[in-house]
Amino acid sequence: MDETDCVVVGGGPGGAVLAYLLARAGRRVTLLEARSDFARRFRGDSLAPPVMEWLDALGLADEVLARPHATADAFTWHTPTAAYRIADYGSASRRFPHYVLVPQPEFLGLLTARAAELPGFRLEMSARVNELVEEDGRVRGVRYRAADGEVREIRAPLVVGADGRFSQVRRLGGFGTEELGAGLDILWFEVPRRDGDPPLSGLDYFSVPGAAVVALGQGATWQLGYIIPTGTIAQAREAGVGPVVALARDRMPWLGDRLDGLTEFTQLTLLNVRITRLPSWYRPGLLLLGDAAHVISPVGGNGINIAIADAADAGNTLAAVLGGDPADLDAGLDAACGEFEVRRRAVSDREQRAQVRSERGSLDRMRRGDPDPVRILKLAAAFPPVARWVGARAASAIGIPAPSTQVLAGPASVTGPASVTGPASG
Ligand SMILES: Cc1cc2nc3c(=O)[nH]c(=O)nc-3n(C[C@H](O)[C@H](O)[C@H](O)COP(=O)(O)OP(=O)(O)OC[C@H]3O[C@@H](n4cnc5c(N)ncnc54)[C@H](O)[C@@H]3O)c2cc1C
Repeated sequence: MDETDCVVVGGGPGGAVLAYLLARAGRRVTLLEARSDFARRFRGDSLAPPVMEWLDALGLADEVLARPHATADAFTWHTPTAAYRIADYGSASRRFPHYVLVPQPEFLGLLTARAAELPGFRLEMSARVNELVEEDGRVRGVRYRAADGEVREIRAPLVVGADGRFSQVRRLGGFGTEELGAGLDILWFEVPRRDGDPPLSGLDYFSVPGAAVVALGQGATWQLGYIIPTGTIAQAREAGVGPVVALARDRMPWLGDRLDGLTEFTQLTLLNVRITRLPSWYRPGLLLLGDAAHVISPVGGNGINIAIADAADAGNTLAAVLGGDPADLDAGLDAACGEFEVRRRAVSDREQRAQVRSERGSLDRMRRGDPDPVRILKLAAAFPPVARWVGARAASAIGIPAPSTQVLAGPASVTGPASVTGPASG
């Protein structure tokens, strides 16, 4: 049986960031990831300007930018007759006036590689958590199936569930969920980028009456999302890829022969858009964050950013408590996790309310065959300073706190006996 200061379950953006921060502040942390690698396609890849500034404060922004990436300087809505630059990120940050789109495997590989240089950090890949260890009403650790098939136990005063939208830790902890209802699902696919492609803004939405496709500019590819009303996947499957290819050809004719390879419906990846709220994110010894605590719709592209901002806040808070007086540890964790939930819930609730409104509106317009954005967004696009205000506000809504002095001053440069088990790549 192992022991550590904090067990983080799930090596997505939320879990990897939190584990890195705790290790950087000198705490012992074990990160358990169910998969054998970080390879994922079609995940939130868009780092918001305030997240880039936060990475910069930690000395990581240049390393992120050294990896394959693209930038998005605005969100633009293209109807068949006009283009509306609705949110312009030009004023969102002095150094990073754009979103940075970096594939999640690159981002997670970088974070865990840097964390592995820190003495308190341990990463175990192919480690699937399936049980909580509980004593006297508190969670005291987890049991997980390791890569060799053995069930192992690890104990800690705090377990953090950062295991995503279908969180097993959330289920094991008995947290209820409330679906706020989502109106849209997305079918993702990708095609290569080529020199000579038109310079889109990076986050582009192309509508026609009754349908829409979103285009995200990645490093070497365009990630394209065909939007369907929730509950219509059976009809979409029946219709096959024909309508998807036809819409993409109609709105982005320059894709040309790159769409020829899209012939089977199975080549599309479905994202069931969900907006899920939990009555509580914490019970003694167990905290949830990121998608495990609040599933966010991809509308606004902030799922990854809110998960990172949750982890940034938790990192600051928990680094202080876990480094404090052991006699007060349980009480300190209870108080800190409760306060964390209040701060971060304000952010995710606000984002989710806006997403529910926006999705209902988009769905209504799609059903009515109206390809235009709502009037207020058209007005924003007509006045560039307003569009810049909208962009700055949307980006800052994630509420990421600056790294604490403990996180900044920790043993960042120490190379020690950290361990990584399993074939994760750095
Ligand atoms: C298909 C798809 C497309 C998306 N597109 C967008 C987008 O365009 N824009 C956007 O903003 N967001 C998008 N998202 C959402 C975005 O990816 C998430 O909001 C973000 O990754 C949340 O980070 P997280 O760390 O909370 O959880 P996740 O990234 O989901 O990470 C959870 C991790 O936990 C691991 N895990 C799960 N169960 C266990 C277990 N029992 N034991 C150990 N480990 C476990 C998983 O393997 C995973 O690595 C998309 C999501 C999906 C699924």
